[in-house]
Amino acid sequence: MPSNCPVLLITGAGRGIGAATALLAARRGWDVAVNYARDADAAQGVADQVRAIGQRAITVAADVADEAAVLAMYGRIDAELGPLGGLVNNAGIVDRQARLDEMSIARWQRMWAVNISGSLLCAREAVRRMSTRHGGAGGVIVNLSSAAARLGSPELYVDYAASKGAIDTFTHGLALEVAGEGIRVNAVRPGLIDTDIHAASGDRGRPQSASALIPMKRPGRADEVAAAIVWLLSAEASYTTGAILDVGGGR
Ligand code: NAP
Repeated sequence: MPSNCPVLLITGAGRGIGAATALLAARRGWDVAVNYARDADAAQGVADQVRAIGQRAITVAADVADEAAVLAMYGRIDAELGPLGGLVNNAGIVDRQARLDEMSIARWQRMWAVNISGSLLCAREAVRRMSTRHGGAGGVIVNLSSAAARLGSPELYVDYAASKGAIDTFTHGLALEVAGEGIRVNAVRPGLIDTDIHAASGDRGRPQSASALIPMKRPGRADEVAAAIVWLLSAEASYTTGAILDVGGGR
C-alpha cells in the first residue's frame, strides 16, 4: 500500500536497541524495514508492533556481511515500501571475552565483516538511493558505535572495540563526503546497555555487575539509546552531521 511516510531500514531490528528503535521510529511516523539475520519470528513480532502503531512494516532477512543478501534486501525495500529515507546501521556482534593473545583470525574476520563491512555495505546502498548526486531526495544515516571505541575494552574484546573505532572514523568521513548531497550521517555511542548482546560475550550479567563503573550507577535501556537514534533521524537534528553522541550514563 503506498504511503507518504518516510521509509527507514534498521539492521538487526528483531531485538535489543534495533527493536526499540523500530517502535519509537514508527511512533514518529516512519515506515520500517525490519532486518534480521536468523530470528525471523522476533523480526515478525517487531513488524507486527510497528503495524499496530499504524505504520507500514516488512521483515527483510539478510546477513549484513553478505553482499548478495544485502542487495536483495534493498531490492525488496525499493519494491515493497518505496524510496528509502533513512538507515540505522545497528546490526553488530561481539565475541567471547578474551585477551588478544587468545584470539583467532577467523574471529576477527567475522567481526570486521559484520561490524565494519556490513555497515559500509548497507550505507553504500543507502547513499546510492538517497544522495541527490544519484537523483535521490536526501536522507539520514545513524551508525551504532560503542563506548568501547574510546575505552579500548582491555581484557574483554579489543577486537570489538577496534571495530567500533572504525565506525567512528567511517561516520566522520562519510558525513563529510555526502554533506552536500542531502544526507546527514551521525553515530550513537552507547555505553553498557541491558540487552542480549552480553550473553555472546559469555557474561550475560555484565550490565548489572559492571554498574559501579558507570557514573550514573546503572546500565542503560534499549529505549534510551533508541531515543538518541530517533532524534538524530529527525528534522530536529537537521543541522547535525558527523556527530558522535555518547549515550552511556557518563561513561
Ligand atoms: P543484540 O541484542 O545482540 O541484537 C543484535 C541484533 O543484530 C539481533 O537482532 C541480530 O539478529 C542482529 N544481527 C546480528 N548479526 C547480524 C548480521 N550479520 N546481519 C544482520 N543482523 C544481525 O544487540 P544490541 O545490544 O541491541 O546492539 C545493537 C548495536 O548496538 C550493535 O551494533 C552493538 O555493537 C551496539 N552496542 C551495544 C551495546 C550494549 O551494551 N548492548 C553497547 C554499545 C554498542 P538475529 O538474532 O536475527 O541474528
